[in-house]
Amino acid sequence: MRTDIDYAHGLDAADPLAHFRDRFVIADPDLIYLDGNSLGRLPRVSIELAADLVQRQWGERLIRGWNEGWWTACQRIGAKIAQLIGAQPDEVIVADSTSVNLFKLAVAALRARPGRRTIVSDDLNFPSDLYILQGIAELLGGQHRIDVIASPDGIHGPEEALRARLDGDTALLTLSHVVFKSGYLYDMAGLTAAAHAAGALTLWDLSHSVGSVPVDLNGSGADLAIGCTYKYLNGGPGAPAFLYVRRDLQEQLLNPISGWWGQARPFDFGLGYRPAEGIRRFLTGTQPMLSTALIEPAVDLLLEAGMDALRAKSQRQTEYLVGLWEALLAPLGYTLNSPRDPARRGSHISLGHAEALGIDLALIEDRLVLPDYRAPDNIRLGVTPLYTSFVDIHEATRRMAEVVEQRLFARYTTAAPEVT
Ligand SMILES: *Cc1c(COP(=O)(O)O)cnc(C)c1O
Repeated sequence: MRTDIDYAHGLDAADPLAHFRDRFVIADPDLIYLDGNSLGRLPRVSIELAADLVQRQWGERLIRGWNEGWWTACQRIGAKIAQLIGAQPDEVIVADSTSVNLFKLAVAALRARPGRRTIVSDDLNFPSDLYILQGIAELLGGQHRIDVIASPDGIHGPEEALRARLDGDTALLTLSHVVFKSGYLYDMAGLTAAAHAAGALTLWDLSHSVGSVPVDLNGSGADLAIGCTYKYLNGGPGAPAFLYVRRDLQEQLLNPISGWWGQARPFDFGLGYRPAEGIRRFLTGTQPMLSTALIEPAVDLLLEAGMDALRAKSQRQTEYLVGLWEALLAPLGYTLNSPRDPARRGSHISLGHAEALGIDLALIEDRLVLPDYRAPDNIRLGVTPLYTSFVDIHEATRRMAEVVEQRLFARYTTAAPEVT
């Protein structure tokens, strides 16, 4: 393992995707951004589109905009996202937030499995997903129980225990495909097959896998999925999410938030709800067009680069990061809180440290590195192969070593900021 900076420069020079970095706004070249898994960088092309959306589309075209691409945007952009996740164009639609989409699809799934009372998930899942499930269980009258299977080590998913738990009472298995803290990557095909053998449906949260690992929803037989567009898809802060419903399930499932955008003929303004055919029934009300439209050029960048090439680079980069951790950071008390096997993880690496929060704050305030902190002791380093360079990774680990060697963390004894 070479730890010198020349080696990092050599890796960048040989990287076939390196040129994509120029397609993004890099406002401060000294800032090392390792948070593209929480908020992706701004694509340059999105600046022009944002100006056009506001000045021309809204300012000049006014209401005519709805017939000039706004009304169809959710389906059009969904069809592009479908190409990133192994789905058909009419199986994915952009809508609402990930949390709201989870609510809609989980309720639809539970109603499609009447009499079955168990929802199976794990303790590595994103807390909001569990909160939504808890709310659903209460709303549906308290007959459902949520079985949250514990990870053996807080890093790896409890695959065997999950399989063992699935039975004739299981209505739904729902997991984060790549888990938000450790980056563990689930075997989607294997678990979906196990759920189907028990007669249950599956709902995958792709927030940390879309745009970071190849996803094959159709090939895995997955029933339902949801995901986020402001992380690896670079859609912008709070950009709407997407949802996937396997085609043959679309006519069987009903959207519990049955609004006019999901009505068969919304502009008839009839007084009774009749669900639209196909994926559009999972829409509810008017979608935020300014932020929806900005997802499209960002998805185009990923399609241009190609998921296989992105995954190959991501694996090289997380391996490089793990190598630098072992050589330079492990002796300073940093632990690896992600799977060691690159095939079993997504595109972020969590490093633990007893002083993790202080280190995180010192990196942000004193050393111009932006990771995120995830309680209790994770410094999460997001590698986004479209724009993260090998030099970024080298420089980040050098600065992380400095923060511990110089005890810069000791200055940050205050509580965590509201958003970490
Ligand atoms: C980021 C993320 C979300 C975000 O949900 P919002 O509704 O957009 O706040 C949901 N699930 C997972 C697994 C995430 O990583």
